[in-house]
Amino acid sequence: MIFIDQELCTGCRRCAEVCPVDAIVGEPGKPQSVDQEICVMCGQCVQVCSSYGSIWDDGLTPREQKLAERGLLPSVKEPLFAAWNEGRAKLVKEALADPDRYVMVQVAPAVRVAIAEEFGMPLGSLAPGKMAAALRRLGFDRVYSTDFTADLTIMEEGNELIERVTKGGTLPMFTSCCPAWVKYLEQTYPELLPHLSTCKSPQQMAGALFKTYGAKVDNVDPAKVYSVSVMPCTCKDFESGRPEMKASGYRDVDVVITTRELAHLIKDAGIDFNALPEEEYDRPLGLYTGAGTIFGATGGVMEAALRTAYEVIAKKPIPELDLKFVRGGEGVRYATVKIEDLELKVCVVSGLKNVAPVLEQVKAGKADFHFMEVMTCPVGCVSGGGQPKALLPSDRLCARMARTESTYRHDAQLPHRKSNENPDIKKIYKEFLGKPLGEKSHHLLHTSYTPRRRKA
Ligand code: SF4
Ligand code: SF4
Repeated sequence: MIFIDQELCTGCRRCAEVCPVDAIVGEPGKPQSVDQEICVMCGQCVQVCSSYGSIWDDGLTPREQKLAERGLLPSVKEPLFAAWNEGRAKLVKEALADPDRYVMVQVAPAVRVAIAEEFGMPLGSLAPGKMAAALRRLGFDRVYSTDFTADLTIMEEGNELIERVTKGGTLPMFTSCCPAWVKYLEQTYPELLPHLSTCKSPQQMAGALFKTYGAKVDNVDPAKVYSVSVMPCTCKDFESGRPEMKASGYRDVDVVITTRELAHLIKDAGIDFNALPEEEYDRPLGLYTGAGTIFGATGGVMEAALRTAYEVIAKKPIPELDLKFVRGGEGVRYATVKIEDLELKVCVVSGLKNVAPVLEQVKAGKADFHFMEVMTCPVGCVSGGGQPKALLPSDRLCARMARTESTYRHDAQLPHRKSNENPDIKKIYKEFLGKPLGEKSHHLLHTSYTPRRRKA
């Protein structure tokens, strides 16, 4: 959850300017608070808040107490800002010290283009290999990547879209990987929930696989598996706590930490991040393609889905992999993609503030497209609420651009760039899941939604 510290807030309302759902309440110049019922936990207020407590301020609650209240490690040195999200790093540290736990970690695509900033590297430095090494030094038993299940999401969601288009399901279909967007739809437009893809997000798919397939591969008791996620996002903690997210028979994801908290853990353990070697992620749940990694940027889910949908429908390789017409910043973007006889119309929404007019069109039956991607944060998860903070607005813009460029650079460097070409995705369908949208996939990888409109 997201809070505003009443002792530190100056009432500047910078947070209110970026809040996509008007959840910040209070008079200018006075301490603000968060309306928890409508807050979608995107953490954009946490990113822009620049009021903090200094050690010279008299009369403030002691720093040690504030660190504990915020769930932060006692060793954290950074300033404590007025807007904050609940931390979970202490739980991860305890789990890593417990010999009875088999701790598996997944790291989201947008973390690898930002974590190095916490160690003094330039904005947007790409550090997947050093991060894998750091996670091993911290003591994780398995170091996996959410990019793998981003590839898996494409297999499931792409096939769901093809089925809805060809067999007559609810259209347009909406992406479901951003939990803040999903919560917004549940509370503001519950009548449109049938439009959401039933796919769980990549985070939750990975959690469900850790305690089933992953436990089987490693021959460990699933009850001993402790599943940790590192996310750029402050809403993923809420998503992991949804009561329906236990298809494996256990809670799919036990604990979520942000990019910033992973940096705290690395510093706390005295690991010299910059001196680490480049290491690979573990297999089978850590091998990913370029399509999986671009999930971190706006338009990425759409581009990844189109790369695969083209090949599934046309049964031949897509002629051009860089679908630049779905990439880009803030706002709403429409495109039409010709796949054999099908004219697939798509819409990409970047920033939750832009979605309401599009949803009104859908409600009125006037939306002229088949598939819509929505990301709550501006330019996607690369600017998520759990990412390293940049205090100046100009630095924030530079960080977004640099992290986005880095994301596409990583895509271009990888040996496979289409989810359907990931050898370990092929293997998991063959050995365990059967086929996309099959019975096992349906049980482990798909979900349902909860209307939560506020009572008048
Ligand atoms: S977390 Fe997001 S939705 Fe919640 S108050 Fe902050 S900016 Fe608004
Ligand atoms: S866009 Fe990404 S980081 Fe932002 S709320 Fe959605 S999933 Fe989280």
